[in-house]
Amino acid sequence: MMRIVLLGAPGSGKGTQAQRLMGKYGVPQVSSGDLLRDAVARGTELGKQAKSVMDAGQLVSDDIVLGLIRERLSRADAANGFILDGFPRNIDQANSLNALLEEIGQPLDAVLLLDVRNETLMQRLAGRRICPKCGTVYNIHSLPAGTTACEKDGTELYQRPDDKEEVIGKRLSVYDQQTKPLIAHYSKLGLLRKVAGEGELEEVSERMEAAALAKPVPASKVKVTKTPAQAKRKSSAVKSAKPAARSASKTASKSAKAKAKSKSKSAAKSKAPAAKGKAAKKSAKKSSRTAARSPKKAARKAPAKKAARRATKARKKK
Ligand code: AMP
Repeated sequence: MMRIVLLGAPGSGKGTQAQRLMGKYGVPQVSSGDLLRDAVARGTELGKQAKSVMDAGQLVSDDIVLGLIRERLSRADAANGFILDGFPRNIDQANSLNALLEEIGQPLDAVLLLDVRNETLMQRLAGRRICPKCGTVYNIHSLPAGTTACEKDGTELYQRPDDKEEVIGKRLSVYDQQTKPLIAHYSKLGLLRKVAGEGELEEVSERMEAAALAKPVPASKVKVTKTPAQAKRKSSAVKSAKPAARSASKTASKSAKAKAKSKSKSAAKSKAPAAKGKAAKKSAKKSSRTAARSPKKAARKAPAKKAARRATKARKKK
């Protein structure tokens, strides 16, 4: 069972990777772009409506695309899973898909995001050529110079109208504005898995497969490693919480002891000012006598005074 959505900018390799997964896991690739191109090629009413929008690099209306997807997912070969490629492309489509999948009892397993840099996307899209007969996708940058026909069946390759340079920019900005918000949407739902989409085809496929088959970890089993600061905070919180866990009698006797202690302390305190006052007067007298006799000695003996003098000097300087 594999029910996944492939997310990624135009040219990120969704179609190519979908075909590889499809071959391996026996679930169909459901590409909204292919379904639309098929409708255009057959010249249906829907295809006629969609063509100009597609050629301009804009998104076809949600209703049209959702109708095609609903019909496709209802076919027998999608009963055991599917790889959605190019759908959903905005938040409304994601919500409609969610409702549809709930209705047919086929919730999503994962959303795989193919991550590819912009300059790579431009190069891939502008160089893409397709065989109209077998659907094989080529790129002029990796084909031997001068090749214009399919290596498999010799049919002349063609360039999709929306792969023309003047349309590519529009498609990428539509992706940024309308489709990118799906990354945060599926991330919040815990379904998103990001896959590095550059490098050898085989390597990307392996990463895709690993991401598609990775079992999601339930939140209750996720252990977060604490930073030393967090751990310290926690241990001091535990220490301060410990007395509360002790027996009530212990706490009661402790609090009685504490009360008694604080009483004697406060009694001592109430006597203290007088005692302190006397002692202070005595020491002040002594130090003034010493100062008169030997100022240096006095300075050594009264560091507090020295510090106070320094502070006053510093203030004056300022
Ligand atoms: P694709 O083959 O996925 O790059 O799609 C080619 C074109 O078909 C897009 O530029 C859109 O015009 C249209 N299209 C494909 N999928 C959708 C979709 N889910 N919603 C709206 N338009 C779409």
